[in-house]
Amino acid sequence: MELWQEMLRQSVDTGKDLVERFGFDEAAAKKLNSLFHIRINPYYLSLIRYPGDPIWKQCIPDVQELAEDGLPEDPLAEDSHSPVPSIVHRYPDRVLFLTTSQCSMYCRFCTRKRKVGDSSKINMKYIQDGLNYIASHPEIRDVILSGGDPLMLTDYLLERVLKGLRDIPHIQIIRLGTKMPCVLPQRITLKLTRMLKKYHPVYINTHFNHPWECTPEAKRACDMLADAGIPLGNQAVLMKGVNDEPDVMLELMRKLLTMRVRPYYLYQADITKGTDHFRTPVSKGLEIMDKLRGHTSGLAIPYYVIDAPGGGGKIPILPQYVLGRAGKNIILRNYKYEIFTYPDLEEEPVNHHPPVEKQFKRKNGKKKELIPDEVVGVK
Ligand SMILES: *Cc1c(COP(=O)(O)O)cnc(C)c1O
Ligand code: SF4
Repeated sequence: MELWQEMLRQSVDTGKDLVERFGFDEAAAKKLNSLFHIRINPYYLSLIRYPGDPIWKQCIPDVQELAEDGLPEDPLAEDSHSPVPSIVHRYPDRVLFLTTSQCSMYCRFCTRKRKVGDSSKINMKYIQDGLNYIASHPEIRDVILSGGDPLMLTDYLLERVLKGLRDIPHIQIIRLGTKMPCVLPQRITLKLTRMLKKYHPVYINTHFNHPWECTPEAKRACDMLADAGIPLGNQAVLMKGVNDEPDVMLELMRKLLTMRVRPYYLYQADITKGTDHFRTPVSKGLEIMDKLRGHTSGLAIPYYVIDAPGGGGKIPILPQYVLGRAGKNIILRNYKYEIFTYPDLEEEPVNHHPPVEKQFKRKNGKKKELIPDEVVGVK
């Protein structure tokens, strides 16, 4: 057995552990355990500094998970975009390929709680169906291995999936979405990186949420992946009490760059059942973005996105930099709130495009009442 597998076996993973190690009462522990798996390996556990800290909140269950919050289990309508159980096909040219239900840790805020950890819903036996689906859809050029965590597969099984994908001529790039560099960096071995290298171009998006997760072990894991020629990105989730302070986010983004990880997305927390206590108002995310742009390297700035409820995909949102228009001038403000005027060009007199409002469409096909000027700020 490899070290990482041994570490997984030593995880805190039962209601009994919650009672004995974290002082939960038995009834609550039992309910929490049956609602969503618990798994915290000794490495990640060692990052906790005090009860209720940002590491604790991400991995130790909270009785607030039991709240009847009325939130949906599948807020992104992933299930209705699944032509076969292992595929989520929402965008024209790329798919999520769910290869395992297992994760190295069960994050309390997970958006895929309904499926993750449940091998009847995500399973190796659906892998061939997924490969067949991808092979029969030539418009797919980008496949994102997800789950669960695809690095929970053994190197051998993972290589079989990668080989299967590389046998499909229209697949240009392969991405892996994995939390391993953050929660179990011991999973990144030379054997693994030597294998991954054979299937380039391979990209990895990892998932760090707090600067305390940027340890020497995590750096070593990211170094090994980067040295294997794999570009690394990070997808963070904005969460109350974890990283909803501009200074914390700034430190996280800077630390990621020192580990050769490029911040990619910052997600507004999804509205998933049992995770309401992690949500922040969108104004908080905008405030954080406002305090990043201009104040630090542009490389450190992720896209702040809302994954549209009901399955519309990721929608970027930005602080308001365009203040308005005066004649042909656009009035802008910079990161220090200084005002600038940009003399725009007059629009071309002949317009071959349909009027902007015709391009808006409600999901149900009805005409949208939104006035485009209000949406984009300028005409
Ligand atoms: C996030 C996501 C992707 C990838 O989106 P990118 O913006 O290309 O990174 C693809 N499919 C689904 C269903 C997703 O949720
Ligand atoms: S690693 Fe990802 S899929 Fe697994 S529990 Fe955490 S957020 Fe959910």
